Amino acid sequence: MQDLPQQMQVIEVVNPGPDSRLCSAFRPLPTLHSGQLLIKVTAAGVNRADLMQRRGLYPPQPGESDILGLEVSGEVVAVADASLNHWLEKSVMALVPGGGYAQYVRVAATHVMPVPKGWCMLQSAATPEVFLTAYQLLFLLGQLEVGQRVLLHAGASGVGTAAIQLGKARGAEVAVTVGSNEKAHACLALGADLAINYRQQDFAEIISQQWPRGVDLILDPVAGDYLVHNAKLLAMDAKVVIYALMGGRKTELDMAPWFKKRAQLLFSTLRNRSDDYKASLVQRLQSDFAADFEAGRVQPVLDRVLPWSQVEQAHQLLATNQSIGKVVLDVAG
Ligand code: NAP
Repeated sequence: MQDLPQQMQVIEVVNPGPDSRLCSAFRPLPTLHSGQLLIKVTAAGVNRADLMQRRGLYPPQPGESDILGLEVSGEVVAVADASLNHWLEKSVMALVPGGGYAQYVRVAATHVMPVPKGWCMLQSAATPEVFLTAYQLLFLLGQLEVGQRVLLHAGASGVGTAAIQLGKARGAEVAVTVGSNEKAHACLALGADLAINYRQQDFAEIISQQWPRGVDLILDPVAGDYLVHNAKLLAMDAKVVIYALMGGRKTELDMAPWFKKRAQLLFSTLRNRSDDYKASLVQRLQSDFAADFEAGRVQPVLDRVLPWSQVEQAHQLLATNQSIGKVVLDVAG
């Protein structure tokens, strides 16, 4: 094992709430519990959950770090148990329960994936949160099958860009809604069959014309009034999975179209799932898609890499809906 410092640099939230600030600070290194690894962080992915957490709206799970950051790449520098020694010095990407905006983070060994051959550490940091989410929504909840049609709202988002690729790689037809023509082009370049700029066109009208049989699965992080439009697009036995409420938490819903189509309205989270559930998700993503990752058929879309001293600018990119794919903080550079 490497000699480790006593202290590490982190990004801390000062004054959590609407006027929060992010500041560099020093903290002791995390202590490891059985089954855990210590990662020396190379890069950390930025997620909208981080923006919510700094506003005090998305607290960490009890007992987990209050430092922001849900995914990292880096090198394993210490292990809690001798049975984990094979991880030492390995380059990994990991889904962490918090603590990613730091030079060192601890994580359950079962929530870690080796960096795919040929991948750089920056793209690896952009992978765990959105690919595990997209995989979970498409295949575990959505039960997506070859030849089925899926609609992804916020298609150019981190989760959306991952879901386009996973869906196409498994033979689905994919439509997306996005807020600009630039985002539409990016989604088509990733393999989407149909990309609709909702600021210029009525997405429900276009999809009904193109796919009159309807859509088998809708992944929706917008919710609010989108549920009314989603109802116009349901194929028989369709599923709609809400995974965020970016467009609002309330709407008036006519249940008749949902009833007639025997539709299922599902809701999903990732952070508050059990450790065992996350471990199984990590394992399933790897066994189903490691070959696609290594062949470069499926990979994260990196909008931008910023030094972690520019973390405020990184958050601003997400807050203003500017990013296509992922924004990553370079922690080691
Ligand atoms: P992201 O990369 O930050 O992209 C979000 C995009 O959503 C924006 O760029 C914008 O694109 C669109 N958008 C924002 N507000 C909108 C609105 N009111 N109406 C329509 N579109 C809107 O986001 P992400 O990382 O993919 O995450 C998306 C959401 O899912 C976030 O809220 C995140 O916290 C959540 N999430 C949930 C889970 C889960 O398991 N439940 C897991 C990961 C993430 P346009 O310009 O195209 O509108």
